[in-house]
Amino acid sequence: MSTDRGGHGASDALFARAQQVIPGGVNSPVRAFRAVGGTPRFIARAQGPYLWDADGRRYIDYIGSWGPMILGHGHPAVLEAVERAARGGLSFGAPTEREVELAEEILKLVPSVEQIRLVSSGTEAAMSAIRLARGATGRAKLIKFEGCYHGHADALLVKAGSGLATHGHPTSAGVPPEVVQHTIVLEYNNVTQLEEAFALQGGEIACVIVEPIAGNMNFVRATLPFMQRLRELCSAHGALLIFDEVMTGFRVALGGAQSLFAQALPGFAPDMSVFGKVIGGGMPLAAFGASRAVMENLAPLGPVYQAGTLSGNPVATACGLATLREIQRPGFFDALAGNTRALVAGLLAAARDAGVPMCGDSLGGMFGFFFTRSFEDMLPQNYGEVMATDKERFNAFFHAMLERGVYFAPALYEAGFVSAAHGPAELDATFAAAREALQAPAG
Ligand SMILES: *Cc1c(COP(=O)(O)O)cnc(C)c1O
Repeated sequence: MSTDRGGHGASDALFARAQQVIPGGVNSPVRAFRAVGGTPRFIARAQGPYLWDADGRRYIDYIGSWGPMILGHGHPAVLEAVERAARGGLSFGAPTEREVELAEEILKLVPSVEQIRLVSSGTEAAMSAIRLARGATGRAKLIKFEGCYHGHADALLVKAGSGLATHGHPTSAGVPPEVVQHTIVLEYNNVTQLEEAFALQGGEIACVIVEPIAGNMNFVRATLPFMQRLRELCSAHGALLIFDEVMTGFRVALGGAQSLFAQALPGFAPDMSVFGKVIGGGMPLAAFGASRAVMENLAPLGPVYQAGTLSGNPVATACGLATLREIQRPGFFDALAGNTRALVAGLLAAARDAGVPMCGDSLGGMFGFFFTRSFEDMLPQNYGEVMATDKERFNAFFHAMLERGVYFAPALYEAGFVSAAHGPAELDATFAAAREALQAPAG
């Protein structure tokens, strides 16, 4: 495979132009490649497992728009549903049957959720879920975990992972200290800290929000003992356990991460759930849900206010419904999980053969890999351990793979995604590129 695939003059020119009119040239920080350096590729189009940039270069896409594109790009059934919906009207600001259908579809797949409200972004869904939890419990405090990302609502910008970590700010400017004074940030998978926090402030904690499998510090599973203790403590103290499944929902399994924890811990369920990404199939759509008793605190029934001009948008719901129907085909998740496991296994084999210490993990169509410091290192369990992995080697690998037409996330603290459109041809091309890329010197 040649590394000389032509220049990226068109992307460079677009990036220069973009920086004149858009801060940093991007509409979401991680896209700017700050963590890895270099110029971001401007994407012109996508089909199946591939992206093409403005210079006409093709990439195998392991980002999938950061999760939504579980079917790959341009799936015919999704395109048809979107086109038909668009012709019927782009937005009404009034209820539609399709919103009811999508709500019913989600409830069918996620038994812990009895009612759901549709919104337009994961940020909005997580922010609304927290407001609802505070309203329902009459308490103020919330617990989140370092390295978990729940969108950019003010109260959550406390040592958040993802985009913030790039710029090295523990919190965002523009968030007054009073706004985060009720937010407690704990280490992921740390049972002792959790017990201490509840022992000290249990009666004031409205909710704990957690990524059940963290995808904003690469890929880190919550351990079973941690999750079990978290569930026990929330129940004992009357705090609501919020699963932020914006990334994991309909991605790691049809029933989300909660279905996997319920298999391992009989009777396990979160109190509230937040969804996004896959449920919109690539259009702006997210949701939060809970028991009827909790959800009935929302306006217009209850005192917790929440609203949205484009909430339940007719085109976005058509896109989400078509996507959710496709992923329910028999064998869909088995095939996706098999391919994703094969991807990680192939990358690990390439690293081993190159004498490079690497570890990796996956569930369903979500994966992560880490360049560890030694062959003895295990999978990271929390943000600090993720950040202790070899960033220089990751960055060199990222660029070497990008040059060879393989597009991984441009930061070591992001998860990766495989779609149903990725097959043996893409995996084999990825392994060949990885074997070359791992020869490249780190740093
Ligand atoms: C992406 C993400 C969000 C934020 O969703 P947006 O649609 O980007 O606002 C929230 N929580 C998790 C776990 C996410 O991965």
